[in-house]
Amino acid sequence: KSFKDLGIIDSLCEACEAIGYKAPTPIQSEAIPLALTGRDLIGLAETGSGKTAAFSLPILQALMDKPQAFFGLVLAPTRELAFQISEAIEALGSLIAVRCAVIVGGVDKVQQAIALGKKPHIIVATPGRLLDHLEETKGFSLRTLKYLVMDEADRLLDLDFGAILDKILKVLPKERRTYLFSATMTSKVESLQRASLSNPLRIQV
Ligand code: AMP
Repeated sequence: KSFKDLGIIDSLCEACEAIGYKAPTPIQSEAIPLALTGRDLIGLAETGSGKTAAFSLPILQALMDKPQAFFGLVLAPTRELAFQISEAIEALGSLIAVRCAVIVGGVDKVQQAIALGKKPHIIVATPGRLLDHLEETKGFSLRTLKYLVMDEADRLLDLDFGAILDKILKVLPKERRTYLFSATMTSKVESLQRASLSNPLRIQV
C-alpha cells in the first residue's frame, strides 16, 4: 500500500516521496487510516518505527482542510526529540507552508514568546517550558487547539512530568483529537490515557 492508498492527499504524498519515504511503515499503515476517521489513538511503538510521520501526516492533512494558528501541540520528553519531531513536521509540511515552533527549556524565553506571537500552526514542546508560557506569556493560549500528541508517554511520566501534564491538559479544549504514543504500557501511562483520551483505538506493531 502507498500513502495515497491510506488516504493521504497528493501534496503530502509528494513530500513523503521527496524525503525518501517510498512506502508507509507498519505503524503508519495502521495508524493513518484510523486517525483520518477522527478517532483518538494509542500507539505502542518504539522510536525508529516511523511513529512521527504516523501522527504528523493526519494532523497536517486536517490542518490543510481548515488552517488556523495553534492547531496542533506535540509534547515530547526531551529537547532533542522535540527538535527532531519539528524537523520531520517541517519536511512533511514543506509543500503546504506549515509553521512550526519548538518550545523547550534552555532556550531564551523572550525569543520563544516572539515565536508564539507569530501564531505557528504546530507547537512541539517539552512540558515544563510550555506550561511556563501558558502561565506567563500574554496573549498566548491553546483554547482553539484541535490536536494533541503525547509522544514517548512512558518517558514523559518517568521524567516526572505527570503533574505538569495535568496542568496543561486542564487548559486544553475537550473538543480535540488526542494521540498517545508509548514504547511500554505502564500503569502511569494507563491513567494518563484515561485522563486525556476519549474512546481511543489501540494500535500495536
Ligand atoms: P521515527 O520512529 O518517527 O523516529 O522515525 C524513524 C526514522 O524512520 C526517521 O529517520 C524517519 O525519517 C524514517 N521514516 C519514517 N517513515 C518512513 C517511511 N515511510 N519510509 C522510510 N523512512 C521512514
